[in-house]
Amino acid sequence: MRIKGTCKRCGREFLADQVIDDGGRCPWDGEPFTADYAMVLVDALKAAQMFGTRLERALEEIADIHPAFTLDRDSVLGALNRSIASLEQNLVRQG
Ligand SMILES: [Zn+2]
Repeated sequence: MRIKGTCKRCGREFLADQVIDDGGRCPWDGEPFTADYAMVLVDALKAAQMFGTRLERALEEIADIHPAFTLDRDSVLGALNRSIASLEQNLVRQG
C-alpha cells in the first residue's frame, strides 16, 4: 500500500515513503509535520503501509477462495474511514 497525502502548509501531494525518508518532514517545504512526534509519525506511517498491504493481500486471498459468506464493509473499513475523515476535517478548519 502506497499512502499519499497533501501538506496543509504548501498544498502539495506527497507519498508516505517520502515523509518516512525525510524523518517526518514535508518533502517540498522541508518543515516537520509535527513538532514533537516525528518518530511516532514515521513509525506509524511505516506500520500503516506495511499492515495496509497485508490487509489488502489477506482480503484478496479471502475473495479468491470464494467462501460462502459476505463481509460487513464497515467492520473492515469503518475505523479507517473515521481516522482519515478526522484528518480531512482538520484541514477544512485550518484552511
Ligand atoms: Zn509542504
